[in-house]
Amino acid sequence: MHEGRRDHRPPTTLTFMIRTESTTDKPEQVQAAQGRANRKPGRGSIAKASACYQYHPDTEYRCQECAMLKKLDGRHGCAWFGPTESVKPSAGSCNYFAHAHPETFHTDVPWLSLFTKEELGYVENPNGFSCKRCEEFLPHASDCKKVDRNSEGDTPGEINPNGCCNLWEADRKRAGKTTPELVKLLGA
Ligand code: SF4
Ligand code: SF4
Repeated sequence: MHEGRRDHRPPTTLTFMIRTESTTDKPEQVQAAQGRANRKPGRGSIAKASACYQYHPDTEYRCQECAMLKKLDGRHGCAWFGPTESVKPSAGSCNYFAHAHPETFHTDVPWLSLFTKEELGYVENPNGFSCKRCEEFLPHASDCKKVDRNSEGDTPGEINPNGCCNLWEADRKRAGKTTPELVKLLGA
């Protein structure tokens, strides 16, 4: 979809790529759950491609990291929804998330007004999204209850804590946690 998302090198260890809360843009690599990704049958049966699984370790899959975010009278809007709807850059996301960083992406996408928030599944979660906050994620197995980790797509042979897909559901314990809190929780 956008820059930097296709890394098909097989992982040598399961690692947690996080963006720190500091001002640096360099991701910090932290050792997380144990084990190596492998080709044993996974739990999920839905192909990564069908779930639109993607891997961008430098984002939390929010509107503020999406190419479709636009300024709107002191607030923000989404090109898809048009200028009559606002979105929350630091908490919102939807099924048409398009990875881009404001520092490097300068294309002014026009107002498209092609979908409603409901049609694209717009939701908000203050600390962002990603598999590590999803109730389907199996952190200690690098696996997902729904998506087939061995299917064609990003992060071959695993479901990465920093991947995400359109089947995301808030995990009761993990969805509200910050990235450093999750590193502590899952890396313990
Ligand atoms: S609502 Fe979706 S497409 Fe629009 S800015 Fe947010 S993540 Fe991007
Ligand atoms: S853990 Fe959740 S977000 Fe990640 S692939 Fe599975 S369903 Fe999708």
